[in-house]
Amino acid sequence: MSTMTIRSQIPTETSPAVAAPSAVPAQSTAAPDPEPAPGSQEEEHDLEHQGQGQGKDRHDDHDRDTPKFPHPKLRLEIRDLNHPGTIKFLGAVNASTLLSDAVKNVQRLLYRSAADKHTTCPPTRSVTVILRDMGGVAYTTGSDLDSDHKEIHFSLSYIASHIPSTPPSRLPAELTGILTHELVHCYQWDAHGTAPGGLIEGIADWVRLNCDLRPPHWKRGEIKIDDPWDKGYQHTAYFLQYLEERFGEGTVRRINEGLRSTWEYEAKGFWVRLLGKEVEELWGEYCGSVRGDDGKGTA
Ligand SMILES: [Zn+2]
Repeated sequence: MSTMTIRSQIPTETSPAVAAPSAVPAQSTAAPDPEPAPGSQEEEHDLEHQGQGQGKDRHDDHDRDTPKFPHPKLRLEIRDLNHPGTIKFLGAVNASTLLSDAVKNVQRLLYRSAADKHTTCPPTRSVTVILRDMGGVAYTTGSDLDSDHKEIHFSLSYIASHIPSTPPSRLPAELTGILTHELVHCYQWDAHGTAPGGLIEGIADWVRLNCDLRPPHWKRGEIKIDDPWDKGYQHTAYFLQYLEERFGEGTVRRINEGLRSTWEYEAKGFWVRLLGKEVEELWGEYCGSVRGDDGKGTA
């Protein structure tokens, strides 16, 4: 995953929506009666739930001893303070809390807790967000010297030209959503660069979806008859959410962890080993479930 450069092609939203907070804790959307996946292991309980009722001092001791995810050095580099995009950005969000909270959301959704024995958070040491005048929306890359240092390049032109169509009340959520998507690329595994790009982008938007940062134009079940499962972005994100609800909370974490331990992605073996079926079959069942929604398929 170290040297990949992932470019986002986030569609321009067209409809206004109600304001959303800039960074909010993700909400679990797991189905009440999930189908257990072959080989799935019951995950250990949060250490936070242990020692209940043992008094405040004991709880404080416990907090001190609970492993925590390493927090990366976060940097913001603004290459043009007078750019209209810069003024929009700085006027809308507190970059310090936005990035810090977004990192915690990504770590929690992809790795659950630092004590989780079934996941392995990569050793990302720093993330530098660079606001600059460029084409496109945003992309993430490893630094030339050390891939544990990530750079997120975010287009001031995009912020300046696109954001005016976004209601001011939605601006923080839009900026936070894009940066959360890019932060996933700083923390996800990709089978040493061999995972399908659509899966990588789908996981990034799945995290955004579960942070309640869904743009108004996203619609569950907007699938054309020949769409592949790895079309990417929100299309694959909603498929992953379906798998999460069907096979149980933690399914996407298992997929991500599978991409860590897989040296070279091979579709059949990867999905059958994780979920007991080939991905095309699962996709067909998802499409069937969406059609069964009878037009109610918005999430
Ligand atoms: Zn991306």
